Amino acid sequence: AAAGGPSGTRQVKLERECELRIEVSPDSPLRLRVLAGTAEIFGTEIAPEIWLSFPPGLKFAVFSWYGATIEMDGATETDYTADETPMISYVNVHAVLEGRRNRAKASPTDSDLSQGPRVIVVGPTDSGKSTLSRMLLSWAAKQGWKPTFVDLDIGQGSITIPGCIAATPIELPIDPVDGIPLEMPLVYFHGHPNPGPNVDLYKVLVKELAQILERQFAGNAESRAAGMVINTMGWIENVGYELLLHSIDALKANVILVLGQEKLFSMLKDVLKSKPNVDVVKLQKSGGVVTRQGNVRKKARHYRIKEYFYGISNDFSPHSNTANFSDLTIYRVGGGPQAPRSALPIGAEPAADPTRLVHVTISKDMHHAVLAVSFAKEPDQIISSNVAGFICITEIDFDRKKITYLAPSAGELPGRFLIMGSLAWLET
Ligand code: ADP
Repeated sequence: AAAGGPSGTRQVKLERECELRIEVSPDSPLRLRVLAGTAEIFGTEIAPEIWLSFPPGLKFAVFSWYGATIEMDGATETDYTADETPMISYVNVHAVLEGRRNRAKASPTDSDLSQGPRVIVVGPTDSGKSTLSRMLLSWAAKQGWKPTFVDLDIGQGSITIPGCIAATPIELPIDPVDGIPLEMPLVYFHGHPNPGPNVDLYKVLVKELAQILERQFAGNAESRAAGMVINTMGWIENVGYELLLHSIDALKANVILVLGQEKLFSMLKDVLKSKPNVDVVKLQKSGGVVTRQGNVRKKARHYRIKEYFYGISNDFSPHSNTANFSDLTIYRVGGGPQAPRSALPIGAEPAADPTRLVHVTISKDMHHAVLAVSFAKEPDQIISSNVAGFICITEIDFDRKKITYLAPSAGELPGRFLIMGSLAWLET
């Protein structure tokens, strides 16, 4: 057997309301299927008998409401069954949300009543926020709703690459291997894996995203009734806490699910008590949630960018394209040269405008930079525009003034303006 946990083909019997927690071996994929009974992975039911293949290193759980027999083939780092899970409390939340969706659907013409639940999931890093968001979305999609998933976690990015906030409707239970389909997500580029380098820009982008969603909901009673599930960052102290309050407010969240932290729960409960239509609910963190160290997160970010270009199962073929320096207009957002002290009133400190656009000239530092392609037609629309996708600079030829970059497809870029942050990706 390989190092680590067990390997080879084996069967596991899951009792009702139990789960099989798995960490796939870091070196090879794991195949798994349901032989008898029914089971789901983070809210998505698995089809009987069909083998699914999970990539190396993936951490997940197979849960069964009524009991199941699972067969595994391949090596795991760990796998064990657990009979204590918070799943009953999670599915109870789902039932309450369903009630609200049905109520909203019944009054499509009333501007308030027609709004389904806007759920925001908050808590420290590794409390299972993304996983709970995913379950709530998949359970809703299974009932035929099309809830909107909003991902404000710029550190990991479950809709697109890190450094972005994004939203997309979920029409089907989320695939346990492939994740969220990348049809036409609404994506805003912050450019950094944490809001720190430009906190104000983060707020501006959340506001922009909220406005667009509001407009979409106004014209679509179905998605309005289905509501949204909003995943957030694990940064809940100081500025992180302020950003949470800002997001709750900007997206008009009316159900706040707090995972695994008493203090955050009581703070939010207290500050939101004056709002009668906002429910703050405390939920238990699952014992299965795996804590990831900083380097593991960094690696996960790297993989997300790789997946963007190559697909989860290496099934996309990105294109290497070339452009002249003069074809690309690249900006950074925020910072840049500040107003000279001499131009300010005495005693005032020069402040950098967080949404100021700074033109970037092509330099060696841009090697491996990941840039967003804006939908903006003019530079002054860049901040308020969403992005079409990303490119990664792979080569710069200063003699011929040409840039080579990787893009998900061949052909012309969908926009003239590129935005640069601190994201970089080196093919390994
Ligand atoms: P957060 O969003 O709060 O940072 P995640 O939901 O991403 O946390 O969970 C952290 C990790 O734990 C993920 O890799 C996830 O797949 C894994 N995980 C979550 N719940 C379980 C569970 N019940 N069993 C096994 N792994 C789990």
